[in-house]
Amino acid sequence: RKNNRIVYPLVVLKCLQARYSAKVFYTHAGCTLVALNPFQPIPDLYSLDVMKEYHCAPQPQEFKPHIFIVAEEAYRNVRGQLVPVNQSLVVSGESGAGKTWTSRCLMKYYATVAASSSVVKNQDTVERIERRVLDSNPIMEAFGNACTLRNNNSSRFGKYIQLQLDRCQLLVGASVQTYLLEKTRVACQPANERNFHIFYQMTKGATDEQRKEWKMSHGQRFAWLPNSEKTVEGWSLFLIFMHRITFILHIALQILAGILQLGNVNFSSSSDESQTCDLEELSKDFLQRAAELLCVPAEELQTCLRVRMLKAGKQSVLKPCSQAECSVRKDCLAKVIYAQLFEWLVTFINNSICAEESTWCNFIGVLDVYGFECFHINNLEQLCINYANEKLQQHFVAHYLRAQQEEYVSEGLQWSFVKYQDNQSCLDLIEGSPVSVFSLLNEESRLNRASDAKTLRIRMEKELCNNGNISWDKFSKEPHFTVAHYAGKVNYRIQGIVEKNKDPVPPELINLLQKSDNPLLHQIFTDKEADNTTCKGLSKVTVVSKFKNSLESLMKILHTTTPHYTRCIKPNPDCKPMTFEKEEVIMQLEACGIVETIHISAAGFPIRMSPVIALISFLDVEDDGNENLRHMVEKLLHVVLRHEATDPLHNLDSEKHNSWVHCGRTKVFLTQSMVSHLSVRSWLVRKEVHRWNRAASVIQGTWRKWRALAEAELDDAKDLQEDMPALNPIIRERGSVQLSNIQEPVTVRGWPMGLALASAPSITVSLTATGFQKMMSVMASLNLPSRKGEYKVETNQYTRGLASIRAQPKGSVKLHCQRSPLLYADRQPGKKCDVTGFNEILLEKTL
Ligand code: ADP
Repeated sequence: RKNNRIVYPLVVLKCLQARYSAKVFYTHAGCTLVALNPFQPIPDLYSLDVMKEYHCAPQPQEFKPHIFIVAEEAYRNVRGQLVPVNQSLVVSGESGAGKTWTSRCLMKYYATVAASSSVVKNQDTVERIERRVLDSNPIMEAFGNACTLRNNNSSRFGKYIQLQLDRCQLLVGASVQTYLLEKTRVACQPANERNFHIFYQMTKGATDEQRKEWKMSHGQRFAWLPNSEKTVEGWSLFLIFMHRITFILHIALQILAGILQLGNVNFSSSSDESQTCDLEELSKDFLQRAAELLCVPAEELQTCLRVRMLKAGKQSVLKPCSQAECSVRKDCLAKVIYAQLFEWLVTFINNSICAEESTWCNFIGVLDVYGFECFHINNLEQLCINYANEKLQQHFVAHYLRAQQEEYVSEGLQWSFVKYQDNQSCLDLIEGSPVSVFSLLNEESRLNRASDAKTLRIRMEKELCNNGNISWDKFSKEPHFTVAHYAGKVNYRIQGIVEKNKDPVPPELINLLQKSDNPLLHQIFTDKEADNTTCKGLSKVTVVSKFKNSLESLMKILHTTTPHYTRCIKPNPDCKPMTFEKEEVIMQLEACGIVETIHISAAGFPIRMSPVIALISFLDVEDDGNENLRHMVEKLLHVVLRHEATDPLHNLDSEKHNSWVHCGRTKVFLTQSMVSHLSVRSWLVRKEVHRWNRAASVIQGTWRKWRALAEAELDDAKDLQEDMPALNPIIRERGSVQLSNIQEPVTVRGWPMGLALASAPSITVSLTATGFQKMMSVMASLNLPSRKGEYKVETNQYTRGLASIRAQPKGSVKLHCQRSPLLYADRQPGKKCDVTGFNEILLEKTL
């Protein structure tokens, strides 16, 4: 069992690698579709024709594995109205693995197949809605995707797109739910990475007029736009979208231009704590532009960034911020604006693509979530992402176990999984009650007390000591805790985690934005206040609570739908085509839960096949269409097991190994042990047959050589009756042939021929001068066996009639008649003939 835990994933890995090198990028693995990223365009893999092929196939499952099979299966489930009718397509994988691509493929598929051209009446609406759904994608990618080290178009948020279908399964609308946008990227881009695409698209693609509107001087550099020399993607699609939408988006872009100017504002340090920090000279202009674009008074903006308001009882005290604090406030302002704008955008898109509730009745959801993450340093964001993956993994495993069990039941197998240990204890550690990592973080955030990382670590250690999924490295300089996730252990940094969880926004900043003359800013921040921001400016809802809530509502949806899983795998970290790095892939198989399903499958009957296949694959029996095939297979397999059990060389426990095979209604279920057993047997037999074949070719080779020798001798031999020397009577008797028109037996000179004739002593060759000699000779030769040796070969001139007589293996004698169309006519040996080969004739007759 222990060894199996290592071996099975390697088998899967090898299989994926072999398929990848054959340019086969999709593979079914249990109930999951594994999609390897080719990192190059594959012609015709996603064309309209291919879509139609999968859509129209009676059994698409029988086609090559493809994302369209998943799409079509879900679509047919909706059509079949089998409960649960609604479907969820879960697409996961690490950054750059191909999730966005896959989600796009799925959306395009439904936009094509779920838009029936036969519905002429609704054609307009249908067309428009598909276009709008597809068009919304580039704009969302522009705002939510960025170029990272791992992927040039990495989604920095999770999303669940619900495609709404009407009674006739036509696409009538869609809605999008997003999760955990990485808003820190607005103000802080990791080394060699970039900000969100939209900023680059604006700066590079702006017209002169827009540049003026956005107060961007030509060639202006922006501190928050590193690596801007890279090519900008998606601008054309974005422009199309811009062209279609209302002017409100232009206002949104103006706000983004304000954020960019804000990024260039720098404060100098003040020598005196009681004094506010001054703006650097160049920054004054940037601040002015930012204020104008955000439509707030420049003076107020400056004050908000430099002065903190402290509440002491009922009184408020103003306190100048340090240079670092000013910078934090500036970043905070940008982040809060961007996050709110993104939320607004999602609502805006939803309003334009969502169908009225009464018009749709089912949906297919596409969940594109960030995969399990483990960096050198992991923060609260990674904890949330890994927590989401942990939750999805639990759902996936439960679904997989259920599907397995259902299959066993439907096949009539009395077998169930021994209580399978899932990842509940890890989830308890993260989100459980009363004490968990989240509850402790929330408590710290609520108390708002100053506590250092070390103290928090000690507290966590004390409170969570009963959970085996958490561990501590007491000697580490950086206080952290380690969580044993299903996909591996991850260290989380404690420093700053509470602050991140609070995600505080100074109330002064919110107040300022609420006063903005920009209608959009004003709207989104007034709405926000109504939502969840207290007058203190602190969000009542912590980051983890908010995330947990949104995840719970997602899980609710997943629980009420039929799930389909697609795992995207990145074959190498450098995004190179045709490069398969085993270590990378195995880590991802581990992280996306495939390895776990392999183990689950192996714990039961991992190999299922139709009885026909079982017979052909393992037993080398031909399929004769027998109805009782199933019983035959069962009997055969049990015979194999019984045979092994009674064999003293095999120590099989008969009790145990009886459970290695089950014959279900339509399939044969085999445990891995049984398969290994059969494989070894068939390997041994093949080896044996291989040896026989080798032996046979040695014999054949030798025989051919021998025959060539004999032929040479025969061909040289003339019938030299006259000058034949006197022979030893025994040899003469054995090597002679009785010809009907010569009284004396004729001695054949060539000894192989003599021996051959002697081995069929009842042959009488009569030489008469009748016509049709050729024909007759042939007839006679062909009829030889039926006449049991009493036949005549008639030829008018024996010297020309019978050219040669050859002995063949297995005792057959071949006669060659002159000018006969047959090289040799065969005389088969009688069944009971004890002379079985030329060599044997030789041995028998010469000794
Ligand atoms: P993710 O969303 O998982 O971060 P993407 O879907 O953006 O990753 O994929 C990264 C890149 O890989 C894409 O920009 C594209 O160039 C390439 N890619 C992904 N899937 C495919 C595919 N099936 N065929 C061709 N290229 C692909």
